[in-house]
Amino acid sequence: MAALILDGTRLAQQIRSEAAAEVRAMAAGGIRPGLAVVLVGHNPASEIYVRGKVKACQEVGIYSEKLTPLDSVTTAELLTVVEDLNQRDQIDGILVQLPLPPQVDAKRVLLAVDPAKDVDGFHPMNVGLLSTQRPGLVPCTPAGCLEILKRSNIPIAGRDAVVVGRSDIVGKPVAMLLLNANATVTVCHSKTHDLAGVCRRADILVAAIGRAGMITRPFIKPGATVIDVGMNTLTDPAEFQRFFAGNASREEAFRRKGSVLIGDVHPEAAEVAGAITPVPGGVGPLTIAMLMFNTVKAAKMRRGSSVPEFSKA
Ligand code: NAP
Repeated sequence: MAALILDGTRLAQQIRSEAAAEVRAMAAGGIRPGLAVVLVGHNPASEIYVRGKVKACQEVGIYSEKLTPLDSVTTAELLTVVEDLNQRDQIDGILVQLPLPPQVDAKRVLLAVDPAKDVDGFHPMNVGLLSTQRPGLVPCTPAGCLEILKRSNIPIAGRDAVVVGRSDIVGKPVAMLLLNANATVTVCHSKTHDLAGVCRRADILVAAIGRAGMITRPFIKPGATVIDVGMNTLTDPAEFQRFFAGNASREEAFRRKGSVLIGDVHPEAAEVAGAITPVPGGVGPLTIAMLMFNTVKAAKMRRGSSVPEFSKA
């Protein structure tokens, strides 16, 4: 039987509506959450992401500000930008869009962000708060993965969860969130032996690898829930055919744009999984929705209010 498709676009819209309701309630008390996005240079992918974030802020009612230092910016100059934002009361969330140019010490810049305004959840203080189950700001994509599971009523407690990928921004925090939700968690990486065998034990399988369609049928336990975080662009026609031959809508998209997005999970996985996130339209939309949620959460936490009720992620 074909897997249930977990519709991230619909869930993201739900979360954005809930965030908008929170923003309206805060407006009654004279507070408007504010997000500052720092976009260095002209990386086309980063520009698209930032445009999406600013647009989402407008829709939700969050004040947003885009700062655009030149490609030639130094670490010291960027530290001054971050320090200014740390001081400004109107700004509740600071997001430094990655990647930064090579001359910039990205770790130093991220470390300079006030943890209370760190809506990306990358600061070691927030990493520590997450791993000790204290309230803090949780990275958006991993938090989005958990929201998909919870809002789709997929049981987590007591289940075997396998996360493929151990990056600081996706793999590790998603593993920590699953552990905090009482799953039994295994984290895999490029040195894992018998990856397919380990993945096949998973009731919940999260793929955060960055390799197009790597997770194929033998990796999946029948009926498992598969969360595909991967976002890979296919441009080679032969590669495209390998994954999507006979898929009319994808073929049309490929003809029109010359590329298509594919996750880390092979399309054939939908024939064996119980539920699966599509790419596009799965985890991706949740990432921006959770950024909106984090900005509202930061605005509330900074003022000592309780965090929004709809999610405790
Ligand atoms: P990353 O930093 O490159 O990490 C990739 C991880 O995958 C590493 O831990 C690596 O292992 C592991 N890996 C690579 N090849 C492997 C293999 N053959 N077998 C097993 N493990 C392997 O990537 P990331 O930043 O976590 O991103 C992962 C994917 O998620 C990418 O496609 C990215 O575009 C996507 N992403 C999507 C969103 C979204 O909003 N949907 C957000 C962020 C990222 P080692 O540690 O051993 O090298």
